[in-house]
Amino acid sequence: MHLFNIPFTIGLTIDDMGWWLCRNDKAIGGPPRLHGTEDPKPVFYNRLFEMGKAAGTRPQGSFIMSEFDDENVCGKPEYNKPLSPIDVTEKGLNWTNHIDGKQKYVLELLKIHNAWFEFGLHGVRHGHFEGGKFYESEWAKRPPRDEKGKFTTAQTQVEPWDEENRTNEVIADCFTALIRQYYTEEELPFPESFAPPHHILYYDKNDKTTGAVLHKRGVKYCNAKISGRVSLESNIPKGGVVDHGMHILDRRSLRGVPFDDAAHTPVAFPRKFPWIETHFRDFWYTENKWAQYLYNINSRRHYMLGKNTEQVHSQYYYNKYAKIINLPGKVIIDTTKIPQKAYDCDLLSSLVLKVPLGPKENITSFTCDGEPHLTGYYKDIYGFGYVTVGSSETMGRLKRGRYVFNYTVSKKPPMIYVDNSMKTYNLYELKNNGPASPGGFNCCLRLKVYGTQTMRVALPNPPSSAYSSDLNSEYLDYNEGFSISD
Ligand SMILES: [Zn+2]
Repeated sequence: MHLFNIPFTIGLTIDDMGWWLCRNDKAIGGPPRLHGTEDPKPVFYNRLFEMGKAAGTRPQGSFIMSEFDDENVCGKPEYNKPLSPIDVTEKGLNWTNHIDGKQKYVLELLKIHNAWFEFGLHGVRHGHFEGGKFYESEWAKRPPRDEKGKFTTAQTQVEPWDEENRTNEVIADCFTALIRQYYTEEELPFPESFAPPHHILYYDKNDKTTGAVLHKRGVKYCNAKISGRVSLESNIPKGGVVDHGMHILDRRSLRGVPFDDAAHTPVAFPRKFPWIETHFRDFWYTENKWAQYLYNINSRRHYMLGKNTEQVHSQYYYNKYAKIINLPGKVIIDTTKIPQKAYDCDLLSSLVLKVPLGPKENITSFTCDGEPHLTGYYKDIYGFGYVTVGSSETMGRLKRGRYVFNYTVSKKPPMIYVDNSMKTYNLYELKNNGPASPGGFNCCLRLKVYGTQTMRVALPNPPSSAYSSDLNSEYLDYNEGFSISD
């Protein structure tokens, strides 16, 4: 019998990208930045993109944008006192900054490599500036502590910087203006993902939370360290929460990677944390080792490296709440316990199942009530098969219910499927619409694409024609695969 499972899916988030200097300015009320001696270079960015491609994932980079400011946006009156409740930088209205050619090149690279790297939100300047002092959390105020970590005042919970939380609106407005220097609204309205500096964001049962501010701008996904002591400060229940549509999941900083030593990679990966986090500097010299480390997550039977953020958050729900029963030639999946919020906030996508297969074995068919439900399929170098189960629902998700899937295993892979090995797109639905021409058929594929990547579709015969409904109904070039773009 073949034992399918819903793999626990892990994504990588990379903290503190966007700084263009490493200098520590804490003594003059500015940010400490990168804790090192070397300034970032374009080649370090390039290595990251290569790493994503080599591991078949789209890591999330969380960006500080003030040093990519080309037109002194951070110095505008609306983001600084007295019009704003805060100064977004230590310089306030006196802020000046222009970017150089190397930075322009990095911004170009980010667009070119969108398939293998996600531009995410960290903040404007990683902190809060008041009275010539730098406070390390930007989006909310963490309770003051002494060196031993003990609270020094009655305040033991994270609080907003001002009562109405206008601070978060200002930071988000300023971040939007910063990215608008490089991205049109159509290209990137706002990042979809967020990792707050020092894990600190404001969450409570009211409408003034960080999630409330960010979700209306387009942030759906957030990761922060919420288990342990910090969870008591921030009120976030263990395991995560949906804050006004922004799904907050727990992350773990990687042990074994000293913050100031760029030449190490970790050995083991943390279990039970959907996000693993480390800092930009940790990748500067060891991109190959990192790609191997990430890909190795797939070597464990019940784990999978997420292809992208949407998949990590979706699989989190399936893994935690869906029940799976294996019977000979059958897999029963019960999704009735998945919380309604996951549906209301569109956090579910198609389901990925993992199954150990022998060297000569493939999943040949996978159906429910006689209908094929298999959208994507591939087998990795460790001998695991991955089946993407899509549907005609929103983002290909499985409705609440009990599904009985019948499958067969033989030497042959399925007749029709998308090979999504080492790719980062999300496959929602693959529908065979039946006869189109004598001996032929018409099939329709629904998916979400990041950047530009080549897609391979297995069909019984080469297609006579293919077109995309999104790319101005353009006909696609076929050469053992289609070149597709978002
Ligand atoms: Zn940071």
